[in-house]
Amino acid sequence: MTVAVIGAGYAGMAAAVELSAAGRQVEVFEASRTLGGRARAARIDGFEVDNGQHILIGAYTETLRLMRAVGADPAALLRRTPLRFEFPGEFLMSAPRLPAPLHMAFALLLARGLDWREKWAAIKLMRGLRAARYRIEPDTSVTKWLDSMQTPSRQRRLLWEPLCIAALNTPAERASVQVLANVLRDSLGGVRAASDLLLPQVNLSALFPEPAAKFVTQRGGAVHRGQRVTSLRRESDAWHIDDAGPFAQVVLAVAPYHLAALVPELAPQVEHFNWEPIVTSYLRYPATVRLPQPMLGVDAGLAQWLFDRGALCGQHGLIAAVISARGRHLALPVAELERGIHAEIARVVPGLPAPLAVQTITEKRATFACVPNLQRPASASGLSGLWLAGDYVASDYPATLEAAVRSGIAAARAALAA
Ligand SMILES: Cc1cc2nc3c(=O)[nH]c(=O)nc-3n(C[C@H](O)[C@H](O)[C@H](O)COP(=O)(O)OP(=O)(O)OC[C@H]3O[C@@H](n4cnc5c(N)ncnc54)[C@H](O)[C@@H]3O)c2cc1C
Repeated sequence: MTVAVIGAGYAGMAAAVELSAAGRQVEVFEASRTLGGRARAARIDGFEVDNGQHILIGAYTETLRLMRAVGADPAALLRRTPLRFEFPGEFLMSAPRLPAPLHMAFALLLARGLDWREKWAAIKLMRGLRAARYRIEPDTSVTKWLDSMQTPSRQRRLLWEPLCIAALNTPAERASVQVLANVLRDSLGGVRAASDLLLPQVNLSALFPEPAAKFVTQRGGAVHRGQRVTSLRRESDAWHIDDAGPFAQVVLAVAPYHLAALVPELAPQVEHFNWEPIVTSYLRYPATVRLPQPMLGVDAGLAQWLFDRGALCGQHGLIAAVISARGRHLALPVAELERGIHAEIARVVPGLPAPLAVQTITEKRATFACVPNLQRPASASGLSGLWLAGDYVASDYPATLEAAVRSGIAAARAALAA
């Protein structure tokens, strides 16, 4: 019998690819006409952008593997650069092309903006984590852990806190230090290439979900766009989706806040989750405007990161500004926020003209808040033949593309083995 996948985000499409590659017939049902879920293409002001600027890292091994499997060549679609963390005039850390762990040691030793005491403290902290095999028990907040390590305040502000927000989309005072340690283990603590930044050069639907849909349909499967599932029922030992079915197995790959509408008995597994937003403002300037680097941090700004989409994907003059997690920016009227971000870009681009157009996209429930000891549901839903996939399913990782992809693969393998 055909396997059904509900939701064509990165998790659902990963599951569909894994099932198709194993020779199963797959039918994907997606509410939107655009594939990709929270990582999808959007059109603003004549430009093809995304609903939010994303970054991948070299440690996203399963995302990269599946991209290759569906013919989406990571080398062509992602711009790979060694890790570079820069707050202009304040801090610069960039990883040299040396084998691990030398790349990290030298990145910290050569960092500009930290004194020797701070550099040594950062190296000691990374060495301590490695010696503890990246296990921190009991789990606590990143802030409490940094307190316990007597981490100098400048190092926290310029290194660990921005890294925490970027990786977990949760501020250090609320974020799980164990999940941050897992990310550090596989990125800065992994092989040199694992900490590379991979910046998409195409929109996020074209990066994986669209080639994945092609892969599935070429193998006899179907991807139904614009088809919101309203009923999922089990009858006579099989699943029925609205008027389609029967399906022996279903991979339910919707966001956690859409679970309850389809399977009310699963609601208790996610009702303790809280959400963190991500705001992306796109500011369009004359095509000659460019940032000094494709990606720059903003110290103590409204924006946290700026991306030059001209350097990344040929959209000259278009700057994306990203603000992760809750913060004071949410209290501002959008026009004031956009004026503030323009002023911050002007600090790094001398003679910056007024923007020709500005558009802001706020994803209110971009990710779950990645707090200490968060109970996340298992892939096995407890209902026969129903598997959960999504960035929120239990794993080592925070809500990221890689967590979504890995959960999709795990759900598909469970369905294949059932
Ligand atoms: C603005 C923003 C920036 C981000 N930045 C990064 C980043 O830089 N790096 C990173 O790794 N991650 C980032 N993330 C997180 C990443 O996008 C998510 O973790 C990932 O996309 C989640 O994928 P998913 O498949 O689990 O869920 P989703 O993407 O939410 O997919 C669920 C799908 O199910 C569909 N659906 C829901 N209900 C139904 C129904 N009843 N019937 C049919 N279909 C249904 C939805 O339409 C959706 O397409 C960011 C997220 C946002 C929002």
